Amino acid sequence: MRFAEQWTSSTVVSTRDLTPSIREIVLEPEAAVAACPPGSHINVAVLIDGRPDKRSYSLVGAPERGHLRIAVRLAGDSRGGSRAMWELKPGQRIDITRPTSLFEIDWSRKHYTLIAGGIGVTPMLGIAAALARRGADLTMHYSVRSRADAALHDELTGLLGGRLRIHAGDEGARLDLDATLRALPEGAVAVLCGPLRMLEAARAVWHQAGRPASDLCFETFGSSGRLPTTEFRVRIAATGNEIVVPHDRSMLDALNAAGFEVIFDCERGECGVCALDVTAVDGEIDHRDVFFSDHQKHDSAKMCTCVSRARGTVTIDTLYRPDQLPGAA
Ligand SMILES: Cc1cc2nc3c(=O)[nH]c(=O)nc-3n(C[C@H](O)[C@H](O)[C@H](O)COP(=O)(O)OP(=O)(O)OC[C@H]3O[C@@H](n4cnc5c(N)ncnc54)[C@H](O)[C@@H]3O)c2cc1C
Repeated sequence: MRFAEQWTSSTVVSTRDLTPSIREIVLEPEAAVAACPPGSHINVAVLIDGRPDKRSYSLVGAPERGHLRIAVRLAGDSRGGSRAMWELKPGQRIDITRPTSLFEIDWSRKHYTLIAGGIGVTPMLGIAAALARRGADLTMHYSVRSRADAALHDELTGLLGGRLRIHAGDEGARLDLDATLRALPEGAVAVLCGPLRMLEAARAVWHQAGRPASDLCFETFGSSGRLPTTEFRVRIAATGNEIVVPHDRSMLDALNAAGFEVIFDCERGECGVCALDVTAVDGEIDHRDVFFSDHQKHDSAKMCTCVSRARGTVTIDTLYRPDQLPGAA
């Protein structure tokens, strides 16, 4: 598996609020911390309503003296992951994976622009520090609701000085993604971490400007989608059976709990392994993945079951064929 994980136990060393809704948590893993690429994240084992689950958190800067630093935003409509993280106290133990990176950054270029939206700032500190050390031509754009929400502002200013641009919504200073990306010199790399809408807008500009797709590196933290997160129904094309996907479970979980054995890997809407064919939609699909292109999402012939949701009823082909089972007539 591309996303194979190695787990280890860790101890919470300290917690500290960076903003009213973002809490820094320092962890000391039991296993020695190996060097990892800037922008790496760990997975963390959490209990949500008594059920084991996991959430991912980017490392804030490089590991130091065997400690890993993460920063967790308390999600307003949380299923429980960020809340569980906010309840951690120094001395408590928590299982985590070894750091790995999803960013595929070409570190050999001359020009870079980093774009962070909200909590998407966390992986950027380490990436900015690595680029600054290399003497790269670097600018960072950081979009926040207000300056009070700009976690890591002082550290980033210390690192980047005037190369850090804060775009605070309440000051009417929204980031103009179109102008920012089009103004980049040829061969520049853009690294983005923020909400799905920000990423989709950046991808559209990047594509229209004829820039190589691989020069736009990104990570999303999962998406709350375009539609509200509500219950919806999945009909199995081969049998007509209907499964209810509750608001707090993924379609992948619901299908597997019903015995359909859908294979999966990243569970972040990035790898496409769990995608299934859609044969009919009575309602609307809310594609929350970054695997399919805009065109494919518009066609809705397939959906990533790990993150995407719907309103109404979606009929899918799970490749389950009751008439082909051993013993079937
Ligand atoms: C690589 C990576 C790095 C990350 N780094 C950070 C980080 O540095 N800091 C940080 O705070 N977070 C980070 N995250 C996000 C983090 O893993 C959690 O998703 C976040 O803390 C919210 O978890 P939660 O359980 O509180 O909220 P969730 O319940 O997961 O809610 C988050 C959103 O998902 C929607 N949602 C609710 N139910 C479902 C459902 N059944 N299916 C799909 N969507 C649903 C909600 O509407 C909500 O908007 C990262 C994620 C990834 C993948």
